[in-house]
Amino acid sequence: MLCISVEEFLFWKKKQLSKGGDQLSFAFLLDSMAGVSSSDINLITINPNGILHLKKNLKFLESVWDDHLTRSCPIQYLCGVTFWRDLKLKVTKKVLIPRPETELIVDIVFNLFRKKSEKLFFAELGTGSGAISIALALAYPSSNGVATDIEQDALEIANKNFINSSKQSNLKFYCGNWWSPLESFKGKLDLAISNPPYIPRDTYEKLPKEVKDFEPKAALLGGEDGLEHIREIIHKAPLFLKENGWLILENHFDQSEKVKKLLIENEFTSIEIVKDLSGIGRFTIGRYK
Ligand code: GLN
Repeated sequence: MLCISVEEFLFWKKKQLSKGGDQLSFAFLLDSMAGVSSSDINLITINPNGILHLKKNLKFLESVWDDHLTRSCPIQYLCGVTFWRDLKLKVTKKVLIPRPETELIVDIVFNLFRKKSEKLFFAELGTGSGAISIALALAYPSSNGVATDIEQDALEIANKNFINSSKQSNLKFYCGNWWSPLESFKGKLDLAISNPPYIPRDTYEKLPKEVKDFEPKAALLGGEDGLEHIREIIHKAPLFLKENGWLILENHFDQSEKVKKLLIENEFTSIEIVKDLSGIGRFTIGRYK
């Protein structure tokens, strides 16, 4: 732990922000690497006469900030972590940084299954950092979950994140494409959930540098029209879900009507489009028969 005068720190902070970048990314750097939260900053700004404790020195923090500004690398990758719901998750360039809008997918499950003592058997397809399934495994401790990813490297991160977040053992990870590692669970799932890659090719090509140059293409690109993986997931879902089992999908801002149609074509009922906090039809859910 390093001690520094608040005055010196505030002067340094102003200098860093004058170089560019946004306040939120800078606050993220301070919180995750220096151990200084936004509320600490508010307090010291009101009373700038004290001493501040930092986990890393200013020179080191500045080098990370400069790296972020010059290469446009997401601050979460440089710090090696992200915050998602109440989890602190390890992230590397092998996994997509879980997005705030995806946090709501867990609330959709909470609305469908209101008792936290529920003994669900759930699957997550394309787990990446493990965010969604870890949140579900923790919220429903009597449930069991299986999470797949095509990248072994991603699964190692997801597994570490699960171990770091809990002492529970109700979540298992399997390597493979979408449903393929789950052959032995056919007809057994109460719930399947996925935030698959859904960005159409032309949109992908125009993504901002910080996304396109750093985040895994395989976690973002959904083929020509963005629906390639969603189609595959929906098409095979009836084999794996129990009767009345739910499928919950995240989709691109303009895809929910198309996803709804795919669900209808594959004999799903109780279909609903759920909006995110920006009012976008971000999730499409349905029940198999
Ligand atoms: N929501 C992510 C983005 O806009 C995309 C995630 C995905 O393709 N599943 O960058």
